[in-house]
Amino acid sequence: MNVLVINAGSSSLKYQLLNPATGDLLAKGLCERIGIDGKFTYKPQLPGKEKLDAIDVAMPTHSEAIQTVLNALVDARNGVIASMKEIDAVGHRVVHGGEKFAQSVVITDEVMQAIEECNPLAPLHNPANIIGIKACQALMPGVPMVAVFDTAFHQTMPPVAYTYALPYEYYEKDKVRRYGFHGTSHKYVAQRAADMLGKPASELKLISCHLGNGSSVTAISGGKSVDTSMGFTPLAGLPMGTRSGDIDAGILEYLMKKHGMDIAEILTVLNKKSGVYGVSGISSDFRDLENAFAEGNVRAGLAVDLFNYGVKKLIGAYAAAMGGVDAIIFTAGVGENSASQRMAIASGLEFMGVVMDEDANKVRGEERVISAADSKVKVLLIPTNEELMIAMDTANLVG
Ligand code: AMP
Repeated sequence: MNVLVINAGSSSLKYQLLNPATGDLLAKGLCERIGIDGKFTYKPQLPGKEKLDAIDVAMPTHSEAIQTVLNALVDARNGVIASMKEIDAVGHRVVHGGEKFAQSVVITDEVMQAIEECNPLAPLHNPANIIGIKACQALMPGVPMVAVFDTAFHQTMPPVAYTYALPYEYYEKDKVRRYGFHGTSHKYVAQRAADMLGKPASELKLISCHLGNGSSVTAISGGKSVDTSMGFTPLAGLPMGTRSGDIDAGILEYLMKKHGMDIAEILTVLNKKSGVYGVSGISSDFRDLENAFAEGNVRAGLAVDLFNYGVKKLIGAYAAAMGGVDAIIFTAGVGENSASQRMAIASGLEFMGVVMDEDANKVRGEERVISAADSKVKVLLIPTNEELMIAMDTANLVG
């Protein structure tokens, strides 16, 4: 069975064609600058097939973008399947499922309406996801489609973890609560962790650290998300590449008054000019920051330190929330690649049974236990694979 995984943004669309049973990737790529001057990238994974790198293709709408993807997949010379019949289902990444979706679902007219009702919760993302779904439905009639939500995995959080201490009617009437994001990634690495540890997920307490340009930490007890650091929006929690993470809400009024900013301007500061970029003043990329620190840039060092410190504090908090932890998982760009950051985060946690293995930790992008043999709490490096998780959910639902 082959599943086409689609992640549609407002002017871009990422795709992968993969076999969820074997995990084999047939092709992947992206359409960029949709509605502008269309650029198409296609990376077939079969031997002898040629890739296309950001070539010009007219893509006035998402419809032409998806048609371009389908043409490439079945292309006589460089395609990876003989015909469209070999695409058995499509899995769509949808950012926000609100409280309506606690798991992935087969897309029906009712589901589309329910996704549209979540638009106010993710006004930049959900409408684009819907455009992608509609374009696929029009071009691939009869092919089952599944929606996989970033928020769904966290719907198991108890009220004590998701309720903000605001007047309760803001939750009841306006749906203001912690939703959490990166759910597909946290779910995937939690499943892999259970496999690696040889125990059922139902018996494990895990802390999953998805550390990339966007970062979140999730407490997973018995296979279910019980708390997570992102909130009503993905601005909350850890400091990130350019996002502030949690700050004192009182700062908003103070800075807006002092600098004559309106709400849009202060939100641009919080979303685009803060995080490790804001503190360092040089870059949102942790590699740049490590290099700059090595050359003596103190603020670059401070930015990385306060990020690592934030992750360490969340690990402590979530171990307390769950009454213990069996394994800590590192994933995403920083979690998979930065041995020094993993070490900085995990060191000092010996009091709770975490002992790293320095040599095992010297690895990148590979599934591996990186704690010492006698570490009570296992530390795992697990490369995330959101597309594979989407394809697996899709295959499970459409049979
Ligand atoms: P992601 O959002 O998961 O793609 O992660 C992207 C981030 O991972 C980049 O912005 C980098 O800061 C970080 N990253 C990637 N490779 C490395 C590395 N070798 N060392 C430190 N950080 C890295």
